[in-house]
Amino acid sequence: MVNRIILQEKIYGGTVESRLAFGLLLFRKLGKLLAELTGISVALDRMRTQEKNLATHMQDLLLGRVCSSCAVSDSGGCCSRSMAGETDSLTILINLLAGVDVAQVNYSPAECCYLSAATGCIFTFKPIFCLNYNCHRIKVQVNGSGLRQLEKLTAVLLGSQYEVEMLLFRLLITNESLQKKVTSGD
Ligand code: SF4
Ligand code: SF4
Repeated sequence: MVNRIILQEKIYGGTVESRLAFGLLLFRKLGKLLAELTGISVALDRMRTQEKNLATHMQDLLLGRVCSSCAVSDSGGCCSRSMAGETDSLTILINLLAGVDVAQVNYSPAECCYLSAATGCIFTFKPIFCLNYNCHRIKVQVNGSGLRQLEKLTAVLLGSQYEVEMLLFRLLITNESLQKKVTSGD
């Protein structure tokens, strides 16, 4: 059985690049099986709806404009190279299972490697830290009820993402046939 600590290190430790590589490997070797074993498509559909509700609310609050003007300011936006460190292999796997083409798209030393110049963050389901991040500028810009609704919609999606992530993690540490596939040389 794969040691829990080794698996945790592969998923959450290492470098941004090694976590991407492990997420891609999990998807290549286990994607179909995991989808069957977990019935994850139902959860992903629910998450897509939750993500759309959140995105619509953010649009209503004009947060895109706040972030766009912030991103071109001298201090830049918050999607920095260090924030890329918040990505883990299971977030990457969940996005791959949802049909997102996960790859590095940004090679600036200052910016997150998943920040596309054309379309913004490539992830449909962002790393939990990124999803949960409401900076001071946003808190000042948004009124009380708008902010409460933003936090509520974020919490709903966060809860679903966490549930799916833990489901995948539990399967990976307990299912020996999945582990054999991950470590097989094909
Ligand atoms: S979340 Fe805040 S820091 Fe990040 S880009 Fe938007 S306004 Fe700027
Ligand atoms: S929101 Fe996306 S682009 Fe921004 S730091 Fe997080 S992963 Fe990177």
